Amino acid sequence: MNIKQGSNKRKKHWVVAGGSLGGITAAYNLLISNNDVTLIESAPVIGGVNNSICWGDFTLDFGCHLFGNEDDTTTALLMDLMDNQVVPVDPIIASITNGIKTEHIEYPDLTSFGSRQVSLALYDLIENINSDNYEGMAGRSMIELLSHRYGVTTANIISDTLKKLTQTDVSNLSADCFEALPCRRVKIVNDESAKLLKALPVFDDLILRSSPDEPMFHYGKTANIFPSRAYYPLTGGMGGFSLRAHSKLEKMGAKIRLKSKINNIECKSDTFNITFNDTEKQIADGLIWAAGGETLSKVVNIKNNLDAQIHKIPLILYYFDMNSTQASKYSYIHDFDDTHFIYRASIPSNYAPNVCPEGRSYLCCEIPTNTDSDIWNSPEKYEQLIWDEALSIGIVTGIKPLNSLIKNVPVSYKFPKVNLYEELQPIISWIKQQKNIFLLDQTIFAKSSIVRYVSDICSELS
Ligand SMILES: Cc1cc2nc3c(=O)[nH]c(=O)nc-3n(C[C@H](O)[C@H](O)[C@H](O)COP(=O)(O)OP(=O)(O)OC[C@H]3O[C@@H](n4cnc5c(N)ncnc54)[C@H](O)[C@@H]3O)c2cc1C
Repeated sequence: MNIKQGSNKRKKHWVVAGGSLGGITAAYNLLISNNDVTLIESAPVIGGVNNSICWGDFTLDFGCHLFGNEDDTTTALLMDLMDNQVVPVDPIIASITNGIKTEHIEYPDLTSFGSRQVSLALYDLIENINSDNYEGMAGRSMIELLSHRYGVTTANIISDTLKKLTQTDVSNLSADCFEALPCRRVKIVNDESAKLLKALPVFDDLILRSSPDEPMFHYGKTANIFPSRAYYPLTGGMGGFSLRAHSKLEKMGAKIRLKSKINNIECKSDTFNITFNDTEKQIADGLIWAAGGETLSKVVNIKNNLDAQIHKIPLILYYFDMNSTQASKYSYIHDFDDTHFIYRASIPSNYAPNVCPEGRSYLCCEIPTNTDSDIWNSPEKYEQLIWDEALSIGIVTGIKPLNSLIKNVPVSYKFPKVNLYEELQPIISWIKQQKNIFLLDQTIFAKSSIVRYVSDICSELS
């Protein structure tokens, strides 16, 4: 598929602050439209969470990361950023709810709550059938959105199953979390019934059915060119994406400033004087801020409490170096039961090439928690228990390997709270008074959604 070619218009200089996926996509689009771009990243590498670490001969990601193939344009852009050095992945997945493992879905299986609960939930869902539109939910909570979409019974059930990941009641979270949480559809009836119900468009959008033989079943309307459900870098783990994106952007002409921070923005009539690293200055025609509203507010002296409106989840990652014969077929399993610590267990070596030495494989267990918990403060005490949980959900076999690594990640998943939108208003008002400053919405979660959203903004600029 062809990516937009450059045009002949006058070159403008854009500064992009923040080099994670949003910033990388903005830089790429601006370069394609023949602009000069300086990308400023505070860390020593670009990519944010899309990076990897080396552990002996292993390359480890920070949890389970894949590029979902959700529409042709977005996937084409990601492919181009990686010079097509990717492998296709059709993940083998399962989820666990109430101790019941359901193959081929990553969402909670509500049928595990028993026929009485499900009948009530289904009745409620049908009663709500005309209000499935969740637009206009700014300032509303996730529980309001879920009730509006599925009815109160289903909303309450889903809300309980999400607590392990969100570490809070979903009534504290903004409706903007919808896309980030596994509740885009509900698994409320068996696949046969779901197939019949989904013939009606209104149910199609609400009801989930597994589609093991058709990985693109839910995406066929937007993604027709690339056949696989997901893609993954050919080398270097997910960090291979960031390395390739870095060199691709530089080849396209971007200047990338690592370990750098913007300290001041002086707005002139048509341009900005941007100071970074305290003394260095650049004149820019435009600025895309991909580093969060709170950091921009500090730089331009707008008082707010944005940081407190992002619910940040600490994550403990347990990595086990195992013999490849100990690995099951699964790419990952989501476990929604609060009787287990593991939220997601993945076997990256089942989909990621070149991340393990010959004959070895690795298991990665994601444990969302809080910084007061015993497991956060003494994670090594729980190593055997975590391995036993992994055994019990059927993702690995055999005895606990001797070689393991534990990593405490203080901020991993970030979910907007209900008042984020309100708290953003002063900085949004300031931006409206400027020309060519854009603050990227940090509430967009999935990689493909970030790429789509940022590309849409950039296409309006060119
Ligand atoms: C464990 C986990 C697994 C996930 N798995 C998947 C998956 O499989 N598929 C999927 O689609 N999505 C997944 N996601 C979600 C997705 O990967 C992230 O939401 C997304 O990559 C975040 O990118 P971002 O561009 O919004 O930026 P952020 O990560 O918020 O990054 C902002 C960047 O700006 C930099 N920065 C901050 N302040 C400054 C400053 N003052 N100046 C300059 N730079 C600054 C930071 O260093 C960072 O690089 C996962 C998320 C997590 C946590």
